[in-house]
Amino acid sequence: MKYSSKKIRQDFIDFFIDKQHNIVRSSPVFPPDDPTLLFINAGMNQFKNIFLEKESPKYNRVVNSQKCIRVSGKHNDLEEVGLDQFHHTFFEMLGNWSFGDFYKKEIIMWSWELLTEKWKLDKNRLWVTVYKDDDEAHDLWIKHTDVKPDRVLRFGNKDNFWEMGDTGPCGPCSEIHYYTGELNNQKADGVNNLDNYRELWNLVFIEYNRDSNGELNPLPSKHVDTGMGLERILATLNGIEDHYITDLFHPIIKQIEKISGINYSDKDGMPHRVIADHLRMISFSIADGIMPSNEGRGYVVRRVLRRASRFGRVLNIEGPFLFKLIDALIISMGDVYSEISDKQKHIEKVVRAEEESFGKTLDRGLNLINKILTSTEGKVIPGKQVFTLYDTYGFPADLTQLIAKENNFDIDMNSFNDYMEKQKKLARSSSQFKNLNEDTDWKIIKNEESSFVGYTKTSYESQILKYRFIDDNIEIVMKETPFYAESGGQIGDTGKIFSDSLTLKVIDTYKNGGDICHLCEVIEGEFLKNTSAIFELTINEKRRKKIKSNHSATHLLHKSLKSVLGNHVQQAGSLVSDDKLRFDLTHYEKLTQNEILEIENNVNQYIMQNLEVDISNEKYDNAKKMGAEALFGEKYGDIVRVVNIGGSSIELCGGTHVERSGDIGFFKIISESALASGVRRVEAVTGSKAFSFVSDNMKVIDNIKQKLNCNIEDISNKIDSLIDISKQNSVLEKQIQQIQIDSLLKSSEPNFSTNDKIDVYKREIKFNLDPKTFIDNFLNKYKNKSIFLLGLKINKPLIVLVITKDLIDKDINAGLIVKENASLAGSGGGGPKHFGTSGFNDLSKYEKTYNMILNYLKGIKI
Ligand code: ATP
Ligand code: MG
Repeated sequence: MKYSSKKIRQDFIDFFIDKQHNIVRSSPVFPPDDPTLLFINAGMNQFKNIFLEKESPKYNRVVNSQKCIRVSGKHNDLEEVGLDQFHHTFFEMLGNWSFGDFYKKEIIMWSWELLTEKWKLDKNRLWVTVYKDDDEAHDLWIKHTDVKPDRVLRFGNKDNFWEMGDTGPCGPCSEIHYYTGELNNQKADGVNNLDNYRELWNLVFIEYNRDSNGELNPLPSKHVDTGMGLERILATLNGIEDHYITDLFHPIIKQIEKISGINYSDKDGMPHRVIADHLRMISFSIADGIMPSNEGRGYVVRRVLRRASRFGRVLNIEGPFLFKLIDALIISMGDVYSEISDKQKHIEKVVRAEEESFGKTLDRGLNLINKILTSTEGKVIPGKQVFTLYDTYGFPADLTQLIAKENNFDIDMNSFNDYMEKQKKLARSSSQFKNLNEDTDWKIIKNEESSFVGYTKTSYESQILKYRFIDDNIEIVMKETPFYAESGGQIGDTGKIFSDSLTLKVIDTYKNGGDICHLCEVIEGEFLKNTSAIFELTINEKRRKKIKSNHSATHLLHKSLKSVLGNHVQQAGSLVSDDKLRFDLTHYEKLTQNEILEIENNVNQYIMQNLEVDISNEKYDNAKKMGAEALFGEKYGDIVRVVNIGGSSIELCGGTHVERSGDIGFFKIISESALASGVRRVEAVTGSKAFSFVSDNMKVIDNIKQKLNCNIEDISNKIDSLIDISKQNSVLEKQIQQIQIDSLLKSSEPNFSTNDKIDVYKREIKFNLDPKTFIDNFLNKYKNKSIFLLGLKINKPLIVLVITKDLIDKDINAGLIVKENASLAGSGGGGPKHFGTSGFNDLSKYEKTYNMILNYLKGIKI
């Protein structure tokens, strides 16, 4: 291969650095605080707030290579992957941007220069498209480049108006396509139509914001946003059509060949392609902190993994194998994207565990699909069956659809969706997600950016920028705020926003896009009359202090888990609130008591050393050099916030922290449990909460000491011997019971028989076990046409009426007989059909009830 992926990526970046661009790192594959987007689908996503002027750009010209995933929402290429050789679920998008700086002319000239001068692509194979009404772009191409005028074509909204999603920044675009076929067979009709006219590069002129009503609103400034698939340009420059033989995929394909023993080929290579492609999507998602699960992003990762796993079966691979391909992925991309090499062990473990758990049901599911395919009349698999496959066998609908398609079947997606909707409704009633996309419109008072001042301030004076009503509450965005918005696991602040004539209680704070939203309740005054006042914002300081302690303790816990359990430990999620902290970690065994003690001890040592907590803003690369742990879900800007606790724990973190480790006071783990396969959950408390946890436990121990009349050291032995005694007792009790049952009727006649010849026995007995086991044993021995009226003495008198099964079949109901007669006698009782009980404090009632039941039995009929 003539060109390596590394060279082309670097060429692109260098070219734009020469044009005064600055490099920005790729953001993670998902936007942590944009609920409208599951995965990053283009390089421009991380700049959304700059286009909307909610954030000001650090540089006016930037360049990067962005990790993108297109498996959901507006941009979904899942169905294409593997069928063709140039669409991926995960790909790298080379891009450059102008934020209100250069515009159409420059980018048109530069893109042409890069493709035809630096990279020397054949101009006779390049085609250019522009938006149908964009005369300006059309003329610029012809005037400022040497593209032949008849190779510049116009297209409508579908092809030349670019949007990231249903809402957000967008605009007309101009694309560059490359023809890969026989040179003389080209025609304009092929562009945007045939596979051998490949779209390489899209130049978008961002001019509008599409709002939730579907309206296009012009943006204050105009911007340039470009995107070119690295895989596409790499293949094109190497003169090939198949991405899977470039160095980005080759090592993975080789490894699949080795494991399966089946060689890759152009024609029959779909399974190889799907597996290699999906592996990248899964690995990069897990590296950025997504765990396969049953909802949201986690479910998409699970779906893609299951799809890949099933394609392994097509290549006759038995058992988990995807995890064995990760080495090869790291060979092709690990040095450029260090997150996958840093987290290799973690990714392998997660993938393997998922494959194992799916493997168990995969074969049964595949069998069922085969059965369905042979038994279905017509060519459409009913939604109910698709749902069963999903619900019982974990087959995502798109996997079923794929297998159906291979067999020339379709699936009834509508009816499947109905089943899903029903299930979701059930789940929703217990869901706790906040709806950040309420339709009620924002009322804008000032169109400005909001900023967080809460690292240093706990109260601040500021004004409302915008607000909207949500049910009985109001969401408010302030110009400045000391309230921390929920993120990085730390919960949002609560507190008060007030002026002379209005008091609001802040129930929660969270992010929505770039805004910090305060969810408020009106306590006093009229909101609408006061929207332009100056307010005092005060957070609940006591609560924040506890949150700070818990957050810093979380970092120390993270560090200690690694040193006690090993470096394979990765953070798989965390929650920092005022009353406790929670940390999910990747680890395969239950933590032993000794490990827990060692971890606690470790954290408390750091606390006692009273280490200084140093917080600084650093360049990302410097922070990495300092040894900083990147927390999942961080958005890596060029500058990152580093929280350094005495050099012992160094993490990238946007949260709030104590000033010295000693402020945490005391740390105690309160629980350890399994969360998912390969993930454990640890919960802990700090400060006075930890102290009360310990003293409450001490109280319990003191009580036990008193009851057992012994020292702490002897408790365990004493309890052991008590358990022994009680075991012996219960063996004895059982023996006694058996003797009682045997002797009860052995030599005795019934007290009387009814007309229908039911034998009625009255007996008085005494024993200590509960009557239920007694009755079960009893009925196993005596089966025919018998009723037993037993006066039992346990601790206090009890009447038990037992009837044999043949009588139940004749509609005699012991529970009911006791209930009715006891109630006539002024007492209570009842039970199931085969026995009824009634218990007494008062002996006279006992006798009365006993006689009532006895009389009833004398007249009983079947
Ligand atoms: P296509 O029509 O080929 O699907 P697109 O119009 O969806 O492309 P854009 O949204 O304009 O593409 O994305 C910019 C560039 O990213 C494309 O020109 C292409 O080079 C690349 N690209 C888009 N989708 C994929 C994908 N699924 N796999 C690999 N590269 C892609
Ligand atoms: Mg596309």
